[in-house]
Amino acid sequence: MEQTAKRALVTGGSRGIGRAVCLALAERGMRVAVNYAGNAQAAEQVAQECVRRGAPEAFAVQADISDPRQVRALVDAVTERLGGVDVLVNNAGITRDGLLMRMSEADFDAVLATNLKGAFCCMQAVARPMMKQRWGRIVNLSSVVGLRGNAGQANYAASKAGLIGLSKSAARELASRGVTVNCVAPGFIETDMTAVLPEGVRSALLEQIPLGRLGAAEEVAEAVAFLASDRAGYITGQVLSVDGGMAM
Ligand code: NAP
Repeated sequence: MEQTAKRALVTGGSRGIGRAVCLALAERGMRVAVNYAGNAQAAEQVAQECVRRGAPEAFAVQADISDPRQVRALVDAVTERLGGVDVLVNNAGITRDGLLMRMSEADFDAVLATNLKGAFCCMQAVARPMMKQRWGRIVNLSSVVGLRGNAGQANYAASKAGLIGLSKSAARELASRGVTVNCVAPGFIETDMTAVLPEGVRSALLEQIPLGRLGAAEEVAEAVAFLASDRAGYITGQVLSVDGGMAM
């Protein structure tokens, strides 16, 4: 495994944290499949930038990961093109915020389908070949909200807490075959997802962050890239917070 370029699949790689993860893996010489839902142009640009940063190969691949059939097609397409998947980063995620009393069932289901079931389906699709090759890295993007809860985000918090249980269970199942499964739990990071926060919410949030600022996508990507590396081979079932100290 050391000599050949590792093959990475990053879900939701077209923007924000996923984009930064693609670039960080590319800088470490990996071949990168950049999944996206609807933003083809952005994903193509990420793939081109990956090659500029050192990826031997990178390409964009569309799939809505909330649809299990599309996940299977995604993993088949990436496996055919790259010959396998060594690193899976479950990054794609959405929010549909609202107070519990007013949250629609549809908004609850949509968030769980993308953030939790989507990750489950991706993990299931890559687990067997990873176990067979006796090397694999799965990194799931949880959130400080999955650790602490957040008013107005019951669906999102449930999905992100669910990812932690999912990851720990998979970590126990796959460990004997050299496959590690970990979570990275970002705090509040400057991306499209947080750009919509009203100024009042933003300043209230800042008060909860010991480091006194929002994080950058690149700072999250560094943690993901480490957990995806050979050097993290003795770390599994963990949740690494990258949150400016929010969840300590
Ligand atoms: P973002 O800027 O909103 O980008 C979301 C990405 O996910 C996009 O690439 C989008 O693709 C993709 N995506 C959404 N639904 C998808 C689906 N059904 N199938 C495939 N791809 C889909 O998000 P972000 O802020 O970078 O967040 C990335 C991850 O980190 C998420 O899991 C989020 O929950 C987590 N996180 C973020 C923060 C934060 O403060 N930003 C904090 C904690 C955790 P298109 O471009 O094609 O739409």
